[in-house]
Amino acid sequence: MGKGMVYLVGSGPGDPDLLTVKALRLIQSADVIFYDRLVSDEILALIPKGVSRFMVGKASGHHCVPQQEINQLLVNAADKNRTIIRLKGGDPYIFGRGSEEALELHKHGIKFEVIPGITAASGCSSYAGIPLTHRGLSRSVQFITGHFREDEPLEINWEKLVDPQTTLVFYMGLSSLDYICQSLMKAGLDADIAAAAVQNGTTHQQNRLISNVSHLADAVKESGMQAPVMIIIGEVVTLADDLNWFISSADEIQLEQEVYESGIA
Ligand code: SAH
Repeated sequence: MGKGMVYLVGSGPGDPDLLTVKALRLIQSADVIFYDRLVSDEILALIPKGVSRFMVGKASGHHCVPQQEINQLLVNAADKNRTIIRLKGGDPYIFGRGSEEALELHKHGIKFEVIPGITAASGCSSYAGIPLTHRGLSRSVQFITGHFREDEPLEINWEKLVDPQTTLVFYMGLSSLDYICQSLMKAGLDADIAAAAVQNGTTHQQNRLISNVSHLADAVKESGMQAPVMIIIGEVVTLADDLNWFISSADEIQLEQEVYESGIA
């Protein structure tokens, strides 16, 4: 049995201020850190000099190191180190494969702890001015993966998702966005229901697009949005303008452009 302890740490959606106190404390006391591609540069900058760090995966569509190898790396690291951090975007147990890694550690008798992080659904929605629930508009939320392998259809019961009082949040939904929206409408979701895409949520590069179910996929395509993108569908999205408190650098550039174009400046 290895002497090390593996901490599966959620790093939140990007803004380093959204790290938990425990996550920060562990990052600063680590011997070795294995991190995902989605962990932001600003968070990586908090790792003390001299701590070994390895990028091991995974961003939508790109698997740097196969999951089986990541599992093995953690098991090996626990043999040689005291404090091993597995740093993951958002929350380790939400579409993060944290539980697969934890099961592998359990299988090898390696001690582990899980430190939850703010999941992208929470972070992106708050920073985009969209409450996931709101009295009178939404009484439940569904977190859904929009990722599907090339020759496999998304195995989703679309009819079950059609409820005007449920907010739908799709992770990894960018590449299949058109299919998602079409399937929802075919299953009976009103084409006018508001829908949003949030790129790089909670960071200075945040970019949000507000539309409706029938137009979102085209609007996103036109905008050239790249992953990571969070898709939020539901009546709550209609609050996005009133509750838009976060101004990213991307918003600032656009505002300056608008002022310039209107001839005021
Ligand atoms: N464990 C993570 C999710 C990993 S799946 C969590 O709890 O947040 C990766 C998907 O999360 C991305 O494809 C994207 O849909 C979403 N995502 C993660 N960070 C994001 C961000 N900063 N902005 C927008 N979407 C994000």
